[in-house]
Amino acid sequence: MNQNKKEGKLGIALVGLGNYATGQLAPALQQTEHCYLAGIVTGTPSKAQTWKDQYGIPEKNIYNYDNFDAIKDNPDIDIVYVVLPNFLHAPFVIRAAKAGKHVTCEKPMALSVADCDSMIAACKQAGKMLSIGYRLHFDPYHAEMTRLAKEKIYGNIKHISAGFSFVAKKGEWRLDKTRSGGGPLMDLGIYCLQAACYTTGLQPIAVTAQSSPISDKEKFNGIEETLDFQLEMPNGIKAECRTSYSENMNFLKIDAEKGSFELRPAFNYNGLKGQTPDGPLQFQPLSQQAKQMDDFASAIKNSQPSKVPGEMGRRDVKIITAIYEAMRTGKRIEM
Ligand code: NAD
Repeated sequence: MNQNKKEGKLGIALVGLGNYATGQLAPALQQTEHCYLAGIVTGTPSKAQTWKDQYGIPEKNIYNYDNFDAIKDNPDIDIVYVVLPNFLHAPFVIRAAKAGKHVTCEKPMALSVADCDSMIAACKQAGKMLSIGYRLHFDPYHAEMTRLAKEKIYGNIKHISAGFSFVAKKGEWRLDKTRSGGGPLMDLGIYCLQAACYTTGLQPIAVTAQSSPISDKEKFNGIEETLDFQLEMPNGIKAECRTSYSENMNFLKIDAEKGSFELRPAFNYNGLKGQTPDGPLQFQPLSQQAKQMDDFASAIKNSQPSKVPGEMGRRDVKIITAIYEAMRTGKRIEM
């Protein structure tokens, strides 16, 4: 009998102990009902020691990037959560699937649609589930925006606008195209296109995009610094989005026939604020990440599909690829 396997809960191993895993996912795993922090995979031995002490992770559940595949023999680990820089998502998801584990992969799912296909195929072949770290599907403010839009509480939607930007630091892997796959669109703009899709329940039929001139050619080498992009949804709805690594912007606004409703800030982990024609939105604070991980664990336990499956991650990488093509060519790209 394994003394570390917690009764009824699925064991999660976090791969990559950077800011997101350390600041958000590990604390959220202290609040989850259906899963718990069972293991870690890190290339930094000093981090392994800190996490072991802080979270009581047994030595046998600590791996590095080289011996990671041996996780297949570890019954404590049910789910591998890949929280590495974008270019490592595909190889680690595929390794995790081959090790017979369910997988959660951070956004953006991969650098190409072909990689997404390989990741989905590897999980299917292993008979394991794949989900994407789309935490806002589990946030009450976004659920309410979606309800207001879908139930036409303020009439038909006429227009959507969204912006997500922050100032990126020089030297980060996010600014290195080989590791990130692109600029703020991959990292932040993806939230805007996600919101356009889940609030409407639609997918774009065509996209256009315009990048702004680069202010610092050394910092933004080969990636966009600021990008405006437009998603043409069926029924004529247009989503106008902006993303940047040199600004601070954080909102989602939906204009409907009888008024507008919005979140500002929209995409943070907490502290979201919402406004509708009938007044402010107010929800109890919760951990988006705890809800997200619990939802995946229950989906696995109950053999139900994930709300944020690999196929959704693939769809978004496909949209991103089209947006980049529109940016490069100046053309309207049909999906
Ligand atoms: P980070 O730079 O803080 O952490 C990255 C980790 O990967 C570090 O522990 C680093 O040591 C490790 N690593 C291994 N090989 C590396 C390499 N070749 N180059 C750089 N780092 C390497 O990044 P982060 O902010 O934690 O982001 C990790 C992933 O999580 C990204 O895919 C990002 O898009 C995603 N993310 C998602 C959210 C969300 O809200 N869902 C928020 C932040 C980050």
